[in-house]
Amino acid sequence: MADGPDVETVWNNFDALNTPADHPSRDEQDTFYLENGDLMRCHTSPVQVRYMMEHKPPVRIISPGRCYRRDTPDATHSANFHQVEGLYVDENVSLADLKGTLSYFAKELMGPDVKIRFRPHFFPFTEPSVEVDFTCHVCNGKGCRVCKNSGWIEILGAGMVDPHVFESVEYDANRVSGFAFGMGIERITMILFGIHDIRNLYENDVRFLSQF
Ligand SMILES: [Zn+2]
Repeated sequence: MADGPDVETVWNNFDALNTPADHPSRDEQDTFYLENGDLMRCHTSPVQVRYMMEHKPPVRIISPGRCYRRDTPDATHSANFHQVEGLYVDENVSLADLKGTLSYFAKELMGPDVKIRFRPHFFPFTEPSVEVDFTCHVCNGKGCRVCKNSGWIEILGAGMVDPHVFESVEYDANRVSGFAFGMGIERITMILFGIHDIRNLYENDVRFLSQF
């Protein structure tokens, strides 16, 4: 279990994670910057950077934490939320290891019959990158209102660590490879419990909270 501070440097939050200088997530519209030039981390991924800077591979960490974005609060957006990040770096780590690990996690969370699928995606810090869907927990993949008749629900993002990230932390990208994944705790909670408004989780209404 690895931890990091909520206030981060731009380098840890963006540069070391291969995020281009003109990437929209760096914009002041999206990220809270402090007067000294630091920022409120917009994901838990800088913990990967901190951990790899201080430890030689192999690395196996999980990192839960609070994140901040300049989103206007609505039913699905909150200016602060929580992620869980995972990182595995060693020799010969493959996309199959990622899929096996996430499949195990899916079964632990949803039950033994759940299936997962990868869809191609883009994140600056992984290559290739995938979005990961689980079969719908309401209809078991048959199609229903909750999954918009697709049978699948998007749960998290993942991918193989981009070699540029390894360069940032002075790992030898020719010797090691790794996978990383990140997921939103509120998002998964809302899916599992059928909660339609993320603000319910933060309003401290005892009538709501006492159901859990
Ligand atoms: Zn469904």
